[in-house]
Amino acid sequence: AIMPTLLSGIANGARQGILFKSGAQLEMMGKVRAIAFDKTGTLTTGKLAVTEVIPTTGHSVDEVLQIAAALEAYSEHPIGQAIVTATQQKQIEFVPAVGVYSHPGQGIIGEVYSQQVLVGKADFLIQNSKFKIQNLELTNNFPVRAHSSAPLPTPDSSVRASLADSLTIPSGDFWSKPAPTTPELSQHLEAEGKTVIWVARESEIIGIVAVADTLRPKAVEVIKRLKQLGIEETIVLTGDNQRTADRIAQSVGIDRVHAELLPEDKVKIIRQLQSQYQTVAMVGDGINDAPALAQASVGIAMGVTGSDVALETADLVLMADRLEKLVVAIHLGRRSQRIIK
Ligand code: ADP
Ligand code: MG
Repeated sequence: AIMPTLLSGIANGARQGILFKSGAQLEMMGKVRAIAFDKTGTLTTGKLAVTEVIPTTGHSVDEVLQIAAALEAYSEHPIGQAIVTATQQKQIEFVPAVGVYSHPGQGIIGEVYSQQVLVGKADFLIQNSKFKIQNLELTNNFPVRAHSSAPLPTPDSSVRASLADSLTIPSGDFWSKPAPTTPELSQHLEAEGKTVIWVARESEIIGIVAVADTLRPKAVEVIKRLKQLGIEETIVLTGDNQRTADRIAQSVGIDRVHAELLPEDKVKIIRQLQSQYQTVAMVGDGINDAPALAQASVGIAMGVTGSDVALETADLVLMADRLEKLVVAIHLGRRSQRIIK
């Protein structure tokens, strides 16, 4: 049977929108020494918007968006939703794609009018086709991985629901002369904290799409409070690229960054952190975070934005999508320990 003090701690949390799955999790939360965060949807709002579409020579903005959206209409990823929304806002005709496969943490692949299309990270495009991207300096030597899952179901209108509040797509030659290469543009955009998505059709890069996220309004304050509470290290774990992740981490005040991770890499890093700090919490929201949430001493899911998989795996759910409840959860956990001992 559960101790009455734990029960009151759980009830206290529930009143404040903090759902502990058990008393053991409440106690564990009081012992946490390091906290890892997913980036998109956790430190940021996850409400992404397209900010730039840059076609390569011989292609147009509309063409890049149209081809990317054909595949992204199948995706539940916030990047996919941002691209579909931009396409709708520009009233670009929707074209169908077939044989669409999503590769978590990397991108999406399919066929449009019998031509192979890839949308995602540069590394992902290179691995899955015979692309030659001039001057592209790969930051990482990714092993080739086959992630083939079943084809995704046909998207319904809710998947294509609008997320972006505003959209500005610069037209014409807005970039400074002399014309930079595509990788240079990409790096420039990433240093601004944006995520760059590459679009290719039949072995040809037709353009890049930059998407921007916004920090959660309370993120900076939450990280500061955690330090004041004696949390020894805060870490961001993201599938996004190093430059984008560094920029976001720096703005929020996070101590350490691990970028360009696949879902299983997040699990490995949680294990490493556990050997250093024993009790490690992980806060996430996506399907790709579920394995890391399961590995963490306390897996914490964001209630409203979180995927069902993340919610089911979590030990603790922050309802109402409020990151600042993390601080309250630590207080409740510590108090429950004091009463018991
Ligand atoms: P995070 O860890 O920030 O939640 P993900 O692991 O979901 O990020 O994705 C990592 C990267 O993989 C993205 O930044 C993007 O480059 C690429 N990616 C993932 N899904 C998609 C998609 N549907 N379309 C295009 N790119 C994608
Ligand atoms: Mg995420």
